[in-house]
Amino acid sequence: MSAFSLADVYRARRRIEGRVCRTPLVESPALSRIAGVPVHLKLETVQPTGSFKLRGATNALAGLAEEGVTRVVTASTGNHGRALAHAARSLGLEAAVCMSSLVPKNKVDAVAALGARVVIAGRSQDDAQVEALRLVREEGFAFVPPFDDPRVIAGQATIGLEILEALPDTAGIVVPLSGGGLFSGVAFAAKRIAPAVKMTGVTMARGAAMHASLAAGKPVLVDELETLADSLGGGIGLDNRHTFAMTREHIDQLVLLDEASIARGIVHAYREERLVVEGAAAVGMSAVLDRVLDEPRGPLVIIVSGCNIDIELHRRLAGA
Ligand SMILES: *Cc1c(COP(=O)(O)O)cnc(C)c1O
Repeated sequence: MSAFSLADVYRARRRIEGRVCRTPLVESPALSRIAGVPVHLKLETVQPTGSFKLRGATNALAGLAEEGVTRVVTASTGNHGRALAHAARSLGLEAAVCMSSLVPKNKVDAVAALGARVVIAGRSQDDAQVEALRLVREEGFAFVPPFDDPRVIAGQATIGLEILEALPDTAGIVVPLSGGGLFSGVAFAAKRIAPAVKMTGVTMARGAAMHASLAAGKPVLVDELETLADSLGGGIGLDNRHTFAMTREHIDQLVLLDEASIARGIVHAYREERLVVEGAAAVGMSAVLDRVLDEPRGPLVIIVSGCNIDIELHRRLAGA
């Protein structure tokens, strides 16, 4: 049995309305020519914090606020940390984001600028996680995980509603895949509304935790390796409760990409689509360019999940 129903997704949509963008879905002539079917880009790059993570974080915090929670914490350094900080401010909650002393200053500053308390603890992500759990035990904070949480998943699932309302004949949706909160939510909503929709997950070959876990039949640890798709790094949690089972249930194709392919996606986005995207968000476009998707039978939607790329790295890759 699923942890939530389509009604939870519609409730998430009502909760996040006005705090999160309903994002544009735009056709890409260049990718449509290559794929032989219309290809549309779902532009989560335009969200206020530059990624779809704002949907899940806002829904989770709104739900916690309804329960009387006033303080929230997470240990993410990336898009989830920013999203939590932004959502907390918009809902009037106190937010703390725990990070290790090795996290670059620009990332610390980005979270602090959104009004969250940045707590520097230890020298690793694990140390930061320990500090977050201490705040939960000793200071009454509620922990908000980046993906393995029913309200977070329901928030990401609102993308599925928007896609099928804008393009009811969508035949396939291509989703960047890491912990699987985005994939699980979108697949859950899309397949309940349009059961024939094919769901493809795309991730990097270097350190693909969900891929290794699906192959093993249970959540497993993988070595975290440096990749251009840094927002897709990290494990799925050995105690994963929701996203592993939901991803396994709904995935029709899983694509692994090498670093050169991810770079091609970033460059294509810039030169052909006039979009600045981060590596994690480029992977769906890379998969079309590499012609590795199963033959689509109709319009394809690619979720372009975020734009938070180091601008010097982007300049080196895209040459602009
Ligand atoms: C978090 C993230 C993903 C992956 O989402 P999961 O729910 O962890 O699978 C993809 N793209 C971007 C930009 C992200 O920040």
